[in-house]
Amino acid sequence: MSEMSRQIPVAKPVLDELEVEAVRRVVLSGWVTQGPEVAAFEKEFAEFVGASHACAVSNCTTALHLALKAVGVSAGDEVITVSHSFIATANAIRYCGALPAFIDIEAGGYNMNPDLIEAAITPRTKAILCVHQLGMPCDLRRIVEIGRCHSIPVIEDAACAAGSEILGEGQWQRIGRPHGDIACFSFHPRKVVTTGDGGMLTTASDEYDQKFRLWRQHGMSIPDTVRHGSKQVIYEDYPELGYNYRMTDLQAAIGREQLKRLPGLVTRRREVARQYTDRLSGIPGLTTPVEPDWSRSNWQSYCVALPDWIDQRETMQTLLDRGISTRRGIMNIHLEQAYSDKATHRAATSLARSVEAQQGSVILPLYAQMTDFDVVLVVEELLSIPAFAEPTALRAI
Ligand SMILES: *Cc1c(COP(=O)(O)O)cnc(C)c1O
Repeated sequence: MSEMSRQIPVAKPVLDELEVEAVRRVVLSGWVTQGPEVAAFEKEFAEFVGASHACAVSNCTTALHLALKAVGVSAGDEVITVSHSFIATANAIRYCGALPAFIDIEAGGYNMNPDLIEAAITPRTKAILCVHQLGMPCDLRRIVEIGRCHSIPVIEDAACAAGSEILGEGQWQRIGRPHGDIACFSFHPRKVVTTGDGGMLTTASDEYDQKFRLWRQHGMSIPDTVRHGSKQVIYEDYPELGYNYRMTDLQAAIGREQLKRLPGLVTRRREVARQYTDRLSGIPGLTTPVEPDWSRSNWQSYCVALPDWIDQRETMQTLLDRGISTRRGIMNIHLEQAYSDKATHRAATSLARSVEAQQGSVILPLYAQMTDFDVVLVVEELLSIPAFAEPTALRAI
């Protein structure tokens, strides 16, 4: 294969015969949605993250909707969150009829700045929705403390963070125990493990978990798994408005295989991230992501801030022309047309750092199957962009 034909995508799921076999088993079993495979996946996921309960749903967006509803978010309320996130974070708040109150991200990173939370709290604040952006844990210790202090529940958007860890009580603990009140995960193919689409809610609360189980299946009092196994005729009823947010057994069977792979995937991803950081440190104007010493990222994405004299789009196009896919930094929700109406949200602080992070940063390829050679190639192609070679000369122009 010539150099020119080499293609490096920005991400790539790890799926093979193990997942094929798992799906085959489910198809031939005759039970294909929210049955034994979903129950087994929930049990294994709960054990993996150290949670008392895990409830599987159709995706992370529906997980966020149910989490917000469970802590009582409803029409007219506000939820403190970041604009610098995937749009689903804020959309879930709007599904509840509530208003996202956006605060800015921290300096030198892409997560919520905890210093800005308290000033954003109003009598209408019903929850804090923090995000472990790009798989990097946000400062949960401080965020949870602020939440406790003001009796405001904390929900973690852990869409990208399966396999990430933080140091707590002197031990490494996986994201999802959860450290806040509820954590929500995604199994979209752009994340570290995938079920095609899929989501999971983890919590220590029996009450929340029961609500999730009721709401995910039309508000049905007795699930069909129970009726199926019963020797007596039972009628179900529908005490509350529910949704169809079910995960299928086909997805869950894939998820169980993915979960077995997860520790190995994270180990390789951490190695790739370390190689990027080693090779990109000390490049004038380029900022590599920093992992605080109390956290271990799963490196769902590796995002670098470009020198301010380098054009983001041009850099990405040059790399794409050479077969290397990248993505721009994480979006800003408040800048999208769906949020152009001021009645859809409140900017509780300046969002300058969020905007800068979107416009000045680039996500480099990172996936477990990447070879050390691939990493060298990406770094070489990036640094061969002329502006990198002569930063001072170009700055002068
Ligand atoms: C991917 C993602 C979501 C949405 O997850 P889905 O499973 O696609 O619904 C929500 N929040 C963040 C931060 C994400 O990255």
